Amino acid sequence: MYKAPRGTSDILPAEQAYWKYVEEKAISLCQLYGYQPLSTPLLEDSQLFTRTSASGTDIVDKEMYIFKDRGGHELALRPEGTAPVCRAYLQHGLFSLPQPVRLYYIGATFRYERPQAGRYRQHQQFGFEAIGDADSALDAEVIVMARNFLLSLGLIQFTIQLNSIGCKLCQPRYREILKKHYTALNSIQGHLCSDCQTRLERNPLRLLDCKNASCQEMADTAPKTVDFLCPECRAHFQSLQEYLSILGISFQFNHRLVRGLDYYTRTVFEIQPGKGTTQQGALGGGGRYDNLIEELGGEFTPAVGFAAGMERLILKLKEEKISIPPLPEPVVFIAYLGSEAKNEAIKLAFQLRQVGIATIVAVGDKSLKAQLKQADARGTSYAIIIGKEEIESQSAILRDMKSGEQKIIPLAKVAETLISR
Ligand code: AMP
Repeated sequence: MYKAPRGTSDILPAEQAYWKYVEEKAISLCQLYGYQPLSTPLLEDSQLFTRTSASGTDIVDKEMYIFKDRGGHELALRPEGTAPVCRAYLQHGLFSLPQPVRLYYIGATFRYERPQAGRYRQHQQFGFEAIGDADSALDAEVIVMARNFLLSLGLIQFTIQLNSIGCKLCQPRYREILKKHYTALNSIQGHLCSDCQTRLERNPLRLLDCKNASCQEMADTAPKTVDFLCPECRAHFQSLQEYLSILGISFQFNHRLVRGLDYYTRTVFEIQPGKGTTQQGALGGGGRYDNLIEELGGEFTPAVGFAAGMERLILKLKEEKISIPPLPEPVVFIAYLGSEAKNEAIKLAFQLRQVGIATIVAVGDKSLKAQLKQADARGTSYAIIIGKEEIESQSAILRDMKSGEQKIIPLAKVAETLISR
């Protein structure tokens, strides 16, 4: 028996209502804030991720699905949504539109991770990006949108965590100071995990969010990014906090928040689920990535964005027992007995659908009981039953599936009767 690959899943009809619910909330949020949809391919040139500041991180170095196609081109299944959006922005000259350009996407993302609750190898991300302005009011807009998205889903148990990690000018100095801190402590305690030993050289910022207990201890006493910001980054972070406070948005400072991709500058933020949640990791996260577009060959173009994992949101909706609207089901099921009645049933189903009544018609030669069982399983409100007698009298039996009540009506009046009900 074949199974879906490890870390991937089928979304069966019973689950689809959650997906539709989250997608619809995402789309109406973006409409409300003036963000336009953008779809990019699942496949990208692998260098989009490996030759930019996205590299040097686990997501790109260890978890990316990468392969050569039949023409020998090295491609990657996208491990995240921001770099593809920036690639599209440059490729299609969106920089010539009035800036910032506000875009959103919903699509699959692939990471070769160890599957567990809320962590999969294929997951669906909803993300939005505002490209082309450095104004911290845009950072505030994106943070507020992320918050309001969760609230619109009915989720209330979450916190916004915020930090600023500086820019090209101030971050190098901070990195050196951080390196010194860890090197000094490690030479006394010698507790740095093997991943962090590599991080110490390649990207010391990531030392701060290592989940290993002994590394976490060293992170607790580490110097804070915010204490080493240049005056421009400090002013940017300060004004962002002012905008958030004008809007009454509460947040927590998290000095260890650095995010999983190395292209972030200045603002970084994450939405953490409240206590007692069974799943791992943030519900969503984002930040500013002022240098990414320049790294991809464009002009200097500051930008800010956010992405959330749909599976994690759905897990949270279930955990918090938030009821969601069911998907619409067909209204009527047509059952028949005998071949003459079957012809009539097929014709009637065709006519009902023509006038917009969602209809399922039986097939094969099952017993009436089996046909009604099927109608019941699909939750249709009505069944229409046509047998030999009904054909002779040009009538049909209309059965209310909830009450079991049955009524004979003229065959020509089925649509009219259903519409009136
Ligand atoms: P990231 O780019 O890692 O911050 O991912 C953005 C969001 O996608 C996270 O906050 C999660 O909600 C979700 N996410 C990331 N990785 C996974 C995964 N492996 N499985 C499910 N959701 C994920």
